[in-house]
Amino acid sequence: MSKITVNIDDARCDLAAIFRWSARESMHEGIANHFSYAISDDGQQFLMNPLGVHFSKMRASDLLILDAGKSPSEYDKKVDPTAWWIHSAMHRNNPQARCIVHLHSHYATALSALQDPSLPPVDQTSCRYFNRVAVDIGFNGMGLDAEAERLATLLGNKRMVMMGNHGFMTVAESPALAFDLAYYYERGCRTYLTALSTGAPLAILPDEIAEKTARQWENQDAQVEEHLSAIRNILDEEEPEYRH
Ligand SMILES: [Zn+2]
Ligand SMILES: [Zn+2]
Repeated sequence: MSKITVNIDDARCDLAAIFRWSARESMHEGIANHFSYAISDDGQQFLMNPLGVHFSKMRASDLLILDAGKSPSEYDKKVDPTAWWIHSAMHRNNPQARCIVHLHSHYATALSALQDPSLPPVDQTSCRYFNRVAVDIGFNGMGLDAEAERLATLLGNKRMVMMGNHGFMTVAESPALAFDLAYYYERGCRTYLTALSTGAPLAILPDEIAEKTARQWENQDAQVEEHLSAIRNILDEEEPEYRH
């Protein structure tokens, strides 16, 4: 289990920043999708966005503290029931999953619509995900009750779940890493599907090279904080109210 000391105020600001940046990157989908962050070691309590606040306007103080022991109707602000079910089941079943980023971004969702929704190692970016994605092809409606529980038990030791016919979730110890994984996954899917759409044969890399490159990515994980701080620098200048 993660031994990270949780600073809730920092987590709120980081989450507000990655919500806003996801909107700038057009990785959001209306007011759907959710990011959450466990503030208790057992995953029972977590921060999550309320229903009805646009990603581009999210503020640190908008995020709700939810308790998996309660029900979505017990809060002042609205809670998306599918978010409630999926994220509470994910945190409960994967307490190491401190931060969960769930998106239906354009290219990743297009990949989720293919019969085989796995991302092959076709470039340096897609290599990052080699053998590191739990792929679900059992879509069974909106993520309520049994569907949420099923999704939550698929993760194992992987870094994310590709949700077939739906979207994806990344899982990490920090908002910086969960966002970085999501951002590069979308980029990898974009490259793969663009290459696929040419109809020319793909240059899929051998397993050994894909694995070596994935490990090189993992060695660079410490740099994800630099990615988030570069994003926060821009937001600090252009829309500092995200921190409030
Ligand atoms: Zn979804
Ligand atoms: Zn979600």
